[in-house]
Formats: sequence, structure tokens, C-alpha cells
Amino acid sequence: LLVSRQYKSEDTIIQVKHAEIGGSSHTIVAGPCAIESREQLLTVATTMKNAGINVLRGGAFKPRTSPYDFQGLGEEGLKIMKEVADETGMVTISEIMSPAQIDTAARYIDIFQIGARNMHNFDLLRAVGQTQKPVLLKRGLSATIEEFIYAAEYLLASGNSQVMLIERGIRTYEKWTRNTLDISAVPILKQETHLPVLVDVTHSTGRKEIMLPCAKAALAAGADGIMIEVHPNPQVALSDAKQQLNINEFNTFLQGLRDSGLYR
Ligand code: PEP
Ligand code: MN
Repeated sequence: LLVSRQYKSEDTIIQVKHAEIGGSSHTIVAGPCAIESREQLLTVATTMKNAGINVLRGGAFKPRTSPYDFQGLGEEGLKIMKEVADETGMVTISEIMSPAQIDTAARYIDIFQIGARNMHNFDLLRAVGQTQKPVLLKRGLSATIEEFIYAAEYLLASGNSQVMLIERGIRTYEKWTRNTLDISAVPILKQETHLPVLVDVTHSTGRKEIMLPCAKAALAAGADGIMIEVHPNPQVALSDAKQQLNINEFNTFLQGLRDSGLYR
């Protein structure tokens, strides 16, 4: 496979503007679940900038379980993201759910995210594979590691080698966490593929109080970075209100990671 270590032994490093993912330093991808307003996104981006973190996430096209829930601001949200990024020097990442959204999103953001629900959307994988923009591929809700690897292979086989993988928890019988963080996926993906591997501690756990230990475990297991959701006022967030960190909690999280000695 094109994604395999046998095919390419050196680590793939994704260079996006001034950010480098998969290189010698860890990457923290942070930002709100959904882009809600300029003020909201700017507050998070400014906090990140002050902390020396430069990859901003935020959904504009949200894959919600219920069709009656907030679906995201769409292109308006992406415009906000571009404005905030230009102002704060952030590299941006946002989810697209269909091939029809590619051209619009490409005008505003730096990295496409393919969400867990679309990991098996082969038309989307092929279409994003035909672009030359970096892409962050999330593990499917119930995808095996093998299926995850083949989904990434679709992207590379279609011509895009700027691919990053992210473990975001899988469905198990366990109910005390939102999903089950499969930490073993990290070293396996690092050994089997040459792609950068990140861990989403927000959607995998759904529990603020265990995000730091899970992030430490991820780095100890060889992850290249962490994704975490941050919102200025999580109680009123339009999605994932329960699990987004507020600004103070985020700063505490970062301090904890730095103090651990695992973060470089
Ligand atoms: C997200 O990161 O915004 C998201 C919807 O996550 P997932 O696709 O992993 O559920
Ligand atoms: Mn979310």
C-alpha cells in the first residue's frame, strides 16, 4: 500500500504554511466544535496564539445526529475562519461532508477534515484525494484499523499524499466514556504507515477530567499531536456543550501537558 512503511520508510511530514505536522515537534489542534461567531473564534485563536499554538479547528459543515440540531454556519463560518486566521496567523482545519463542498472550502481553509461519519464515503475520499490540499482523516465510528488504513489509501491512490490520521475513539459497550479511545491504534498506525498520527481527546472521551491523562498517553504512545475542543463559553455552545474546555481549562490542560515532559 502507498500508506505503508514498506512502501515509504521515512515519516511523512505535512508542511502547511508555517505549521509542520509529523515533524520533530508535537502539534496541538484546538478550537471550537462549531464556528459560531467571529468573536467566539477570535477568542479561542487569540488564546492559542498566546500559547504558541497555531492549528485552529472549527466546524462549518457539522455532521449532526439529529437533523433538527445546529448544522453549522456553512460558508459564512468558513469566511469567519479565514478572517480570524488572517488576523492571528492560524493554520485552519474544517470538515467537509461532500465533494460538492470541496471548492468552496478550499478558498477559505488550509486543511480538509474528513469526519468519522464519512471515513467510508469513498466518493468523498476520491474527490479529496484529487486535490492537493492536506487532509486530516478521522477513524470511523466503528472502523477497524485495517478499514481506517484502506480509507487513507483511497486518498493517496487518488493522488493526495498529504494525509494525516486521527484516532477519535470507537464504539464499544463502554458507557462511561463517549467513545473508547483505542490507544493501541497509535503505535500500530505509526508502525504500519508513514503518516502523521493524532489523537482527538475530546470526541474519544467526552469527559473533560480525563482529557489530560489521555493526551499524555497518546504522546507516550507516539502520537504526533492532539486535537481538543475549546470554546469561550461551553455552556452555551451550539454543539458538544458538555465536552468543550473553556479558556482556563484549556490553559490548564496545556500546562499539564508541558509539565509532563512528554510534549515537545
Ligand atoms: C469534529 O471533529 O468536529 C467531529 C465531528 O468529530 P468526529 O467526526 O470524530 O465525530
Ligand atoms: Mn465536537
